[in-house]
Amino acid sequence: MKIKCMLDIKKFNKKPMGYEIGAIQNRLANNLSKSQVEITVEELAEYLVDGCSFKPALLNGSQSIDWQSQSVFALDFDNDTTIQEELDRCNLLGIHPSFGYTSFSFTDIKHKFRLVFVTDEVITDMETRNKLQITLIKIFSKSDINTKDATRLFFGGKRLISTEYGNTINANEIIEKYYEEDKCKAEYVDTTAKEERGVQDRRNIYISYLSCTPLSSIPLISTHDDVSLSKIYGNHKTYVFETNAEFLNYITSEINLGEFLGIKQSNSFNCIFHNDSKPSASIFLNESDQYIYKCNSSSCNVSYNIVGTIERIGNFKSRPQTYKFIKKVFNLEVMETDWQKEQKEILFENLKALNNGEFEDICYQAGKNITGIKHYLERLHIIALDNIYNDKLSDDDGNVIFFASIEFICKQMNVSPNSMGKISQKLAVLSYHKVLNKLDDSQIPDTMFKKSKSVASNKKSNNHVNYFSIPSYTVNKFIEVEDRGIAWKKNGHTMKGMSREMIARGDGLETANELYPQYKKVKTEKVDKETGEIITTVADRTTTDMSNKRVEVILKAIGELISSQGYCTEKQLIYMLYKQYAYNTTETQLKRMRGQLSQFGLKRVKATKELKLEYNIKGNGYPYIIISN
Ligand SMILES: [Zn+2]
Repeated sequence: MKIKCMLDIKKFNKKPMGYEIGAIQNRLANNLSKSQVEITVEELAEYLVDGCSFKPALLNGSQSIDWQSQSVFALDFDNDTTIQEELDRCNLLGIHPSFGYTSFSFTDIKHKFRLVFVTDEVITDMETRNKLQITLIKIFSKSDINTKDATRLFFGGKRLISTEYGNTINANEIIEKYYEEDKCKAEYVDTTAKEERGVQDRRNIYISYLSCTPLSSIPLISTHDDVSLSKIYGNHKTYVFETNAEFLNYITSEINLGEFLGIKQSNSFNCIFHNDSKPSASIFLNESDQYIYKCNSSSCNVSYNIVGTIERIGNFKSRPQTYKFIKKVFNLEVMETDWQKEQKEILFENLKALNNGEFEDICYQAGKNITGIKHYLERLHIIALDNIYNDKLSDDDGNVIFFASIEFICKQMNVSPNSMGKISQKLAVLSYHKVLNKLDDSQIPDTMFKKSKSVASNKKSNNHVNYFSIPSYTVNKFIEVEDRGIAWKKNGHTMKGMSREMIARGDGLETANELYPQYKKVKTEKVDKETGEIITTVADRTTTDMSNKRVEVILKAIGELISSQGYCTEKQLIYMLYKQYAYNTTETQLKRMRGQLSQFGLKRVKATKELKLEYNIKGNGYPYIIISN
């Protein structure tokens, strides 16, 4: 009697290990002309005790959806039983195996063996196959439940037992007699549901022989075989990263995803995530220098970096699990010192304070001022979480220091790089409120400075790296924050007017330098007329001559208006000066000098009923007016 099944003719004399198993799976799935065999039961038995491996089902691939037919059913015994005990059970039940064989790890004390049954008719429907397999497992209660899978692989072994190759079993008879709907069906709920959904099942992975090399790591990823994978890919000294961001940068940019997956032609291949009839997928380097798996089929349309790709293939249930697997495979570690943990705790506590109302309760005005940009502050915390270095950079003030380019921050916040200016402005507003500190390059220890430069150059970016620190949001800190919130309001500052000049005029140079540390000094070069030498002078940066001139003009106009009508509005000034300056030039200048008005004996206040009466202000509403202090 001839049977059809899957056979791998590579012989082993001991149990195959991790990567060898992956290779067997690959050969069986990808080289069907060799692996699908039609042989006699006796021949199968001989192959198995020669050390070859087999799958009892006839499959067109590696998934249960590839199942075609089956007439061989095997049970695996490796615990708490003996050959004699199970053969006695066979006799009792009248269910006779065609043969059995001891496995590689069989000992006289621990009997590990398999019994192989052959059906009198070939089974071609999955339901019958499942019912028969699970019934056999239930009645041979000491056999391994894992043999229920239609794609189950069995290794060869050493010695044949009880060879009666003519023995067959009748599926319908056994099912009728022993199948228990309630007990057995539960075992297959998952599988059946999967079959019904067919190609719609998003968990299926399709490994095409045409697209993948026999050494593809895909089957090993799908079985979470990190041991085998690490023998190939982790065969180096452990790489230790200081931050999660460095680890992510390494795996997404340095590991060639196509090569790792064993894709023959990574610029165009049959997608592994859907039943692809034409090459719809490609792996390419995106603008951030990351390898991306992209499928262009409208029904599939995936776009994953290495993390997403591995997560999907392995059907990992959590992101940390995926990271753990990747670290094991490539022999990578992310170091986390106690100090780093403490820094993370600061950031988590800050996020809580920002979200549970504590911040707004204590910092009423500051909270109001930054309400529109609070989410940027939260995102910065997330960026910082991935970028905490192990150097003990913090002073005892509990500041968490991190660095990033504005370009990177834009990317993380999902805003266009064209908005870099706006983002910088928002960060400056946050710095003003002391919930974020922007640090000058000179405040950065050399080691970190070098590190940030090398990270920047890895990314092929000449973008300036910015250094930030986030203070711990204690109630003590909140006192400083709210002081700034009140000053912001008092000085009439606005988000749009935010600039070094606005702060310099309103709050003074010291504060301006605190927010714009990189502009602290101005370098001027002059040629000495007598010697011809270039003389470089570095001076504290103040406000520009041009803006000083504008302020002078505006003050003169204010003086004129006040002497004629007792007050003036910003609108009046803008119209009055239209010949000299464009409207928005005056408007911006006015915003930037609001905080400075008191120095000139002026103040900007909201008109009240009394003030309107006093200055004879016509019209509805209560506009802001500038009056003498
Ligand atoms: Zn696809």
